[in-house]
Amino acid sequence: MKRIPLSLLLTIGFLHGVAQSYKRIHFRSVVVDTHNDILMKAADKGIVFDQALGGQTHSDLTRWKKGGLDVQVFSVYCDGGLKDPFAFANREMDSLDAVVARNPDKIVKVFRYADLLRAVKQHKIAAMFGVEGGHMIENDLARLDSLYARGARYLTLTHNIAPVWATSAADETTKPNLPHKGLTAFGIQVVKRMNQLGMLIDVSHAGDQTFWDVIKTSTKPIIASHSSVYSLVPHRRNLKDEQIKAIAANGGVIQVNFNPGFIDSGFDKKEAAFLKKHEAENDSLRKSGMDDFYSLNFLYAKYAEEANAIRPPLSLLIDHIDYIVKLVGADHVGLGSDFDGINLTPAGLDDVTSYPLITKALVERGYSRKDIRKILGENFLRVLKANEPPGN
Ligand SMILES: [Zn+2]
Repeated sequence: MKRIPLSLLLTIGFLHGVAQSYKRIHFRSVVVDTHNDILMKAADKGIVFDQALGGQTHSDLTRWKKGGLDVQVFSVYCDGGLKDPFAFANREMDSLDAVVARNPDKIVKVFRYADLLRAVKQHKIAAMFGVEGGHMIENDLARLDSLYARGARYLTLTHNIAPVWATSAADETTKPNLPHKGLTAFGIQVVKRMNQLGMLIDVSHAGDQTFWDVIKTSTKPIIASHSSVYSLVPHRRNLKDEQIKAIAANGGVIQVNFNPGFIDSGFDKKEAAFLKKHEAENDSLRKSGMDDFYSLNFLYAKYAEEANAIRPPLSLLIDHIDYIVKLVGADHVGLGSDFDGINLTPAGLDDVTSYPLITKALVERGYSRKDIRKILGENFLRVLKANEPPGN
């Protein structure tokens, strides 16, 4: 009989231990994702996500459960060019409410922190809205209140297209002659009203000046619902070290975005080369009325092998988490995937069933169970609770 070397036995034992422990840690933690765009896709494509949508989307109700997800903040997004953004936001909210009404045993909308904990205990997905773009309140605090009353627990102050009262990262970096930068007097009122309501201020997409005005104004911890690290990938959507430190000092949290373009500094070039190769086909799709996002989505699905080859490794996403932990500790980072709002994801993270692979990677990098639980969800829950008005 051949002897198996001890070192090999130890390696097998270690790997088996990792496999056991990461699953145990993952499925016993509260897993939160603060940014998923399935409502946008459902509205655009006329699909419902209490059906199996494997192969078409990153998310559906059954796959969330398989991935061990407990809390989902649903992004409510509409194009800045629409003339009735508040009504559009409400229609998107209706679509989630319909799914919740049809599946009361699987998903429940939560309004208070205590409701959220109850839903998690009952093994239901706790659902909240995050309104992505201040333009949807149409410069009216009563509309902000109304979105809050329907379950919006954060407002992303700006998208790329910003409201008149706050400038976006896109505005501040591409428009040299802006009439103002940052929050206007009304923008400051919006932030103050959000603090009163217990609605989290989301600085993802915000310009630097807007960011610093928020830090000065907010009396509560803030979030970046889906942004990564600028020092690793200098993209305007990512956060600079001073911003990460300011969010930590404010008690807030940065929810890392999985978007390849935000986590891999070489990705944009690879995507441009892919698009160049398929330029003629892309042009005809665009001429037929498809927008950029869906034409790229179509091409990536059609040329899946090429698409797969340019996906960044999962380790790059973990690097962004690691960077924030090394800079400000493990209390200020979480997950804001942007699933269904991005066309490609890191290799291996195919859809919402893949969250356990993040836990596995964190275990392999030597993260403690306690810190992993914070990153998977507890940090966001702390911020949510800190924003809730007393006596709620
Ligand atoms: Zn976004």
